[in-house]
Amino acid sequence: MIRKILIANRGEIALRIQRACREMGIASVAVHSTADADSMHVRLADESVCIGPPPARDSYLNIPAILSAAAITGADAIHPGYGFLSENASFAEMVELHGFVFIGPSPAHIRMMGDKIAAKEAMLKLGVPLVPGSDGALPSLASAVEVADRIGYPVLIKAAAGGGGRGMKVALVPDELAEAWQVARTESKAAFGNDAVYMEKYLDRPRHIEMQILADSYGNVVHFGERDCSLQRRHQKILEEAGSPVLSAAQRDALGETVTSALKGLGYRNAGTLEFLYQDGQFSFIEMNTRLQVEHPITEMVSNIDLVREQIRIASGEPLGYDQSAVTFSGHAIECRINAEDPETFIPTPGLVTIYHPPGGLGVRVDSALYAGYRVPPYYDSLIAKLIVHAPDRAQAIARLRRAIDEFAIIGVKTTLPLHRQILDDPSFQAGDYTIHWLEKFVAGLQADRPDAA
Ligand code: ADP
Repeated sequence: MIRKILIANRGEIALRIQRACREMGIASVAVHSTADADSMHVRLADESVCIGPPPARDSYLNIPAILSAAAITGADAIHPGYGFLSENASFAEMVELHGFVFIGPSPAHIRMMGDKIAAKEAMLKLGVPLVPGSDGALPSLASAVEVADRIGYPVLIKAAAGGGGRGMKVALVPDELAEAWQVARTESKAAFGNDAVYMEKYLDRPRHIEMQILADSYGNVVHFGERDCSLQRRHQKILEEAGSPVLSAAQRDALGETVTSALKGLGYRNAGTLEFLYQDGQFSFIEMNTRLQVEHPITEMVSNIDLVREQIRIASGEPLGYDQSAVTFSGHAIECRINAEDPETFIPTPGLVTIYHPPGGLGVRVDSALYAGYRVPPYYDSLIAKLIVHAPDRAQAIARLRRAIDEFAIIGVKTTLPLHRQILDDPSFQAGDYTIHWLEKFVAGLQADRPDAA
């Protein structure tokens, strides 16, 4: 029985998890840095504990402080949210070692999927198709040259420990390989303390399509359909849709079958997402995320499920209690990630929010911890709100989202809201005709069109 959950996170996701707890009659404990003392996730929690100074490594990544906070408040379980410690296998292990329930998969599965080479090997064995590439890590530049010659250029060097698009370098032609190899390794070593890299064929026009799953402790695995997250800048998602504008129901069923049977084979538990690149009718696995994702709300809207509630139920030892046939989809959902960033330069814009007026009306959801008078701190990720709409079909979802953006007032700090409005006005976006490379070109086009452009 879980009666009290410590939420090891901040901002909108801490609030999101808190809301599920409250509806389930579970008490929640917020943790916060000194910079977040006035945060909404702290104000609305049943209890809160300050776990350290502003830098994340001293607070939200401070494992002893978080475990102590759980112990002194008498929490039964810890929910890690996304980011911070959510994919840290040692943290999950320590949580369990100290007698708390970790709301997520087993530490062994977190560790396996955190190593993208191990993840790809495991998925290959389970019959999941991969992007063509190296067989495991590349031991030397010579081996990189050999693999690139075999699979053909362009190629991508990727960090085994990668995340957030770091440690990833393209070589379009043989001449660029030595530098890509060196830069990817250096970046990976600096970001992750690990310079193991591998190679994939660089796909020129794929879509990023991912599948959400839930698995209980009794071997039941169910998928909740796909999300199309192709709109990215620097490999970071900006806007997501459920379902994908290009996937048929039959393709969704087939991919869902591949994914659920693989995860059954793995003995996976709790929530997870398998990410694929989709090009020429072919799905290729790139990685698995062993946690709740930023873009989970669009799945919730089209499948009418509370994913956090399900995560908590699973962690409590409950069976899912339904099978795939009970999961149905209705309508279309789109999420915009609203960042406190200049919409043209993408430079973060921390500061005081003087006016905050979120949009409302039918089919509009805003996941955010903002309020008027809140000061966006400079220490953390710049995501400040997620605007999610749900409508009977994609055209109506786009119309609703344009209307909601026009209603949304966040004054005091610059945000990426205007960029989203421009994306929604674009005919290619409206036609659903885009790949993972589309947004970079779109942004470059906007920059070239500006009157001050050289
Ligand atoms: P990270 O864990 O750093 O986010 P991923 O493996 O999930 O890295 O890839 C992030 C993004 O990078 C993908 O969504 C896609 O846009 C791009 N990408 C990854 N692999 C390839 C590839 N082989 N070809 C083209 N683009 C890729």
